Amino acid sequence: MGKKKRYGLYLLGALSLLIATAAVWVNQATATRHAAQPSNLGHESNQKALSGSLATGAKVTLKTVRSANWTAPLSGLLNLNHPKAKSASLQDNDEKIQVYAYHLQHPEHGDFLIDTGVSQQFYDAPQSQGMPGWLAAQFGFETMNIVTSTEALVATIEKPLQGVFLTHLHLDHISGLPAIDKQVPMYVGDGETLERYYLYAATRGVVDTLFEGRPALRNWRSAYVDIFGDGSVFAIHSPGHTAGSTAYLVNSTEGPILLAGDASHTAWGWEHQVEPGKFSTDQARSRESLDVLVQLVKDHPEITVRLGHQEL
Ligand SMILES: [Zn+2]
Repeated sequence: MGKKKRYGLYLLGALSLLIATAAVWVNQATATRHAAQPSNLGHESNQKALSGSLATGAKVTLKTVRSANWTAPLSGLLNLNHPKAKSASLQDNDEKIQVYAYHLQHPEHGDFLIDTGVSQQFYDAPQSQGMPGWLAAQFGFETMNIVTSTEALVATIEKPLQGVFLTHLHLDHISGLPAIDKQVPMYVGDGETLERYYLYAATRGVVDTLFEGRPALRNWRSAYVDIFGDGSVFAIHSPGHTAGSTAYLVNSTEGPILLAGDASHTAWGWEHQVEPGKFSTDQARSRESLDVLVQLVKDHPEITVRLGHQEL
């Protein structure tokens, strides 16, 4: 083979590799195409300030609402390849889980939700929110039962909602949106809307439909955010399950409560410090974030913990 021809073949090989890589990149969609901008709410904070806030008098009430019962594969909820999961001989199965929403009332700043639960409208007619039948089947609607729909939750709130603090943009956390007024601002962790992941090619259309006609998402601007500037509620960037995954610490009238979000879906995962499984975009970061939250609670055992999808 002549030198020129061999060089041509190398070039062709390199070009094919480049095209293949580009194709994979294009297929990796972002979570949503909805606009996002930095949040005008919240002050940059840190873990020391958060720890200091735990001892101060609390004035915020927090109500936990079990919106739906559901099942999901344990291999998605928990890293079954973790040595602790292996030594416990955990097998993949359909794990019983719940979908939660939280109603937060601040005496000066008003009423907020943390995550949204499941709206009856989404549950009854997912196709009305842009969800094709095959995706609804994948989502596992047939194993989901509503306990308190988002419509029923919102009906108990007397004043207009001032905002929704999201733990992340996965469908099981934003499926309550059809029951929430279009003008209510939504807050999300930094980087959440920009991360690319192959599964988002399937879910992005639904996420976009759920946010249609709503204001731009507002990104928390630092790793720790003192949301109202009074030490009552903190957003804690806990990336790994998704890039913008966020936990919330609420200094409630019943004591400090950590809403871990999907930094830990399961009780077993929290108790054994084993991070979530295949549903996560970055398992190593997810493990680091879980370690930080578990350590926070070890240092401050007065904190009550609420996990993403199970009760402790
Ligand atoms: Zn979830």
